[in-house]
Amino acid sequence: MTQIKVSREFMSAVQQAIKAAMACDDEAVRFMVAYVPIYAQYAATPAMAQAGGCINCTYHGLWIDDWPSFPAAPHGLIFLFEAGIRSQGGDLVENTYGVLLHEMGHALQRDHVLDAMRQMKAAAMYTPRGGCRACPG
Ligand SMILES: [Zn+2]
Repeated sequence: MTQIKVSREFMSAVQQAIKAAMACDDEAVRFMVAYVPIYAQYAATPAMAQAGGCINCTYHGLWIDDWPSFPAAPHGLIFLFEAGIRSQGGDLVENTYGVLLHEMGHALQRDHVLDAMRQMKAAAMYTPRGGCRACPG
């Protein structure tokens, strides 16, 4: 299988996502981002897809205890996949951060909590304040 390298743009998005996670208001995320190795890869290999539990899925990221030929790490490894994240469309940095938070949730055994919270906050931020046009001042 040919290994397709990630683009410089994606590497930059990953670096910005890591920086954002280091400034995250969740202390556990700030702590863990320094201890979980984060790898940028173009796409999951078939073996990774199998380990993730869905051989035909397009993976955006993967958290895994350990992986052959990668140095072992006490809290597992995170892979971020350019092809999957790009398939979301929209802002590459924002989407990469979303996937990083998602995988951080797995590393913290808080599966699918962190990114769900982030999406709720984002939705609240963009909810129009109904009735405010009638507010005085
Ligand atoms: Zn997940």
